[in-house]
Amino acid sequence: SVVIEARDVTFAFGQTPALRGASVAVEAGEILAIMGPSGSGKSTLLHCLAGILVPDSGEISFAGARLDTLAETQRSSLRRDRFGFVFQFGQLVPELTAVENVALPLLLSGVRRTSALERAKAWFARLGLDGLEERRSGELSGGQAQRVALARGLVAEPQLLFADEPTGALDSLTGEQVMDLLVSAAREQGTTVILVTHEARIAAYADREVMVRDGRVNAPDRIVS
Ligand code: ADP
Ligand code: ADP
Repeated sequence: SVVIEARDVTFAFGQTPALRGASVAVEAGEILAIMGPSGSGKSTLLHCLAGILVPDSGEISFAGARLDTLAETQRSSLRRDRFGFVFQFGQLVPELTAVENVALPLLLSGVRRTSALERAKAWFARLGLDGLEERRSGELSGGQAQRVALARGLVAEPQLLFADEPTGALDSLTGEQVMDLLVSAAREQGTTVILVTHEARIAAYADREVMVRDGRVNAPDRIVS
């Protein structure tokens, strides 16, 4: 069954159109890769699906209900309670330890500190991060920081994980290790994943790929005359 869907979505940054009628439907439990060249609209589509940006026209539905028509406070509760996020540059909070970073989504959802830290700690062994719990982000390698960011994205067992170039800042071997962990953890807890990447090797981890070109999904190649 479809868990989230964009229908004919348009979005412009001022005069710059980023999406020009993008449609995509994602099945529950699916790992979907959104591919396409730089500037094609991948991140904007991800941000519309996640309720971070509101389309100028078209519709976003999540779990059978409109998401784009919700007020910002409702969309932000949805993001907090149902969605997880992983970005290209981990974006860990530098003042917090690794385990506090992982616990953050739980703390924001009102889980008590001891229990949040306990749940966060469980992810360290699972992701090969044993012993790094008390490090700050400046004391982690790129691959370690990205695994911490992955744990933070999944710790609250979100229905949907949005991953925007999650391996973009890593070398290819480290990137593949992070993708392996992302895919197995998501499958284990049944999390649907929407992954933005411009790398075919990373998209190969997904169940399905769609291509964004000029703000549309799977638009046919333009005929050059
Ligand atoms: P991709 O993720 O495929 O690289 P984006 O969705 O980031 O593409 O960008 C789509 C288009 O929107 C590009 O032309 C980009 O320059 C433009 N764009 C993206 N973000 C902004 C922004 N914050 N302000 C102005 N233009 C933007
Ligand atoms: P991504 O790698 O996710 O496509 P980018 O590196 O294109 O992200 O953009 C990083 C940030 O800069 C994003 O917040 C995006 O919205 C913003 N951005 C992208 N293109 C532009 C632009 N032309 N003008 C202003 N901001 C932009």
